[in-house]
Amino acid sequence: MTRLLEAALGYATRGIPVYPVHWPRPAQGRASLACSCPRGPDCDRPAKHPLVRHGVKEATTDPDRLRRWWQRWPQANLGLATGVIFDALDIDGPAGLAALQQLADTVSPRLSGPLVATGGGGWHHWFTPTGLGNRPPHALTHVDWRGKGGCVLAPPSRHISGGSYRWLVGLDQAPLVEVPAALRRLLDPDPPTTARPARTAGPDLAGHPYGRRVLAAELAALGRATPGQRNHTLNRTAFKVYRYVAGGVLDDQDVTLAFTSTARSIGLSAAETARTLTSARTAGLANPRTVPATPGPTTEDRP
Ligand SMILES: [Zn+2]
Repeated sequence: MTRLLEAALGYATRGIPVYPVHWPRPAQGRASLACSCPRGPDCDRPAKHPLVRHGVKEATTDPDRLRRWWQRWPQANLGLATGVIFDALDIDGPAGLAALQQLADTVSPRLSGPLVATGGGGWHHWFTPTGLGNRPPHALTHVDWRGKGGCVLAPPSRHISGGSYRWLVGLDQAPLVEVPAALRRLLDPDPPTTARPARTAGPDLAGHPYGRRVLAAELAALGRATPGQRNHTLNRTAFKVYRYVAGGVLDDQDVTLAFTSTARSIGLSAAETARTLTSARTAGLANPRTVPATPGPTTEDRP
């Protein structure tokens, strides 16, 4: 049995309907991956659209049908129906996390419950179903809600970029919880329009003490950046720190939130911050570093 079929059956056992989705595969004469559909490199939703005609409407918990599907397409990605056992908050990378941070006075940017890192650099937080359909939360950009009638890809699906969907907090590690009330209100058709000031204090940070020292030093360096150097300094310092995230020394969301806070506090725009962090994160995550054998920052780690 393949890892994908095994995972599909595991979701079905929990009552989550599953359906098969196209997958990324090597394309002839190209370095990058292409969609497994006939459009290949020209597909506009590569490795994200269903293999079955009616898509999520055909999602099932029937193990026999799942076995038949993954026998036919052993590499198929896993699409899950939302709105049945869980809904998902879809955070589109650093920009989405920054948007959520605007709610920090009412919603902790560190949400509890199961959490997936998407293959494309974002996150899916799973919550108990709200009964609501798909909709973007009011006033939040780069954040989406997948509810009734919706779907998400799930681990161990693969993204067209080559990354994989993976659990950061698994279904056996944390129970599904209700979406925080303040966030839930933003999903209602007519939410109250209250201005929420952005929080400026940094979040409590988790991670290895060495990693936290590196992060603190780099945030301090960013805080001292002169006007013409701010964006460049954000890129340089964030790249350095994301390497430790890749090495498992620091937490991805903590680091993203901390850099977002500091970048905004020195006057970088939200758009610029998100853009630079996205690029520094991609580069840093591809170059893991771990804690050096001799503790204490080296010259290279000093800002
Ligand atoms: Zn396709």
